[in-house]
Amino acid sequence: MQDKIDLKSLTLEELKEQITALGEKGFRAGQIYRWLHQRKVSSFDEMTDQPAAFRAQLEQRFYINRITVKKKLVSKIDGTVKYLYQLRDGNCVETVLMQYKHGASICISSQAGCRMGCQFCASTLAGLERSLTASELLDQVYMTEQDSGYKIDSIVMMGIGEPLDNYDNVVRFLRLISSPEGMNLSLRHLSLSTCGLVDRIYDLAQLKLGLTLSISLHATDDETRSKIMPVNKKYPLSDLMKACRDYFAITGRRISFEYALIEGVNDTPAQATALAKLLNHMNCHVNLIPVNPVKERAYRRSTPANVARFQQQLTRLGVNATVRRELGSDINAACGQLRRESVGKEGSI
Ligand code: SF4
Repeated sequence: MQDKIDLKSLTLEELKEQITALGEKGFRAGQIYRWLHQRKVSSFDEMTDQPAAFRAQLEQRFYINRITVKKKLVSKIDGTVKYLYQLRDGNCVETVLMQYKHGASICISSQAGCRMGCQFCASTLAGLERSLTASELLDQVYMTEQDSGYKIDSIVMMGIGEPLDNYDNVVRFLRLISSPEGMNLSLRHLSLSTCGLVDRIYDLAQLKLGLTLSISLHATDDETRSKIMPVNKKYPLSDLMKACRDYFAITGRRISFEYALIEGVNDTPAQATALAKLLNHMNCHVNLIPVNPVKERAYRRSTPANVARFQQQLTRLGVNATVRRELGSDINAACGQLRRESVGKEGSI
């Protein structure tokens, strides 16, 4: 398998090059691409319009990525489903399917583990195992559609891992999932969340993909942010906020800010005022998230009264802020905990 090419990660143009290099007609690339990305097959034998000899040739040169359901938790309250998917090399990642009035949404992981070290996050406790390939990103969507029977309308890249730390594969995934010959998802229905890798925010802005950029902000001053998010030492708030303003100027897309409320750390009235000042009439939206406790850390979620007060104060100060509705609260272990329980503390199976 090592030498074989990951077929599902190829763009249509790359696939055409590969197919013509094998001496076959280019139109076969379009057929194969649709088998992979529209009918979502997982074996060459299912590509019944391809000659058997050619299918055997394909099998020798390429592989079709597959992920499998290792564990599945279904919320009795609202039907939210949390999947633990096993990758080909045994690594595991989490994917969450949420059902809203307007359709089904999925939250996918971009890496097995994470090296960003955010203090309130279980995904980073054992560090980074590896980044996911484009086909592994796609398969979280494809597999979830197949397993659940739902058509996915929107995607959030907010699961395990930092998407911009896996930049090339993530951009490849974005191009594949939005391709008209594939799933054809409008990237206006995709939101990518980053802890603030400023250089990559500028790279992404240049691509003008139309997606929503979501910034995990979580603090309003460098001292607090560096304490809970080590990435802030490299990219302090002044650089991050400038990048956000520039991103909006380049793409015209409103930025979303995530703010996980942690008791006594970032949820005081003074911090609400500081947040409004930091955002300074920016065209943006703030998502307030009562943080999920991680048993290895001492952080506690803000009380409901504090969350409500924080939001009301932001609204009074002219900031568009909502509290994220909690879905699947009965299966709602903090992101990364299911994987961690399954792989043990060292992060490998
Ligand atoms: S919050 Fe995101 S970027 Fe930070 S450690 Fe967790 S997965 Fe990584």
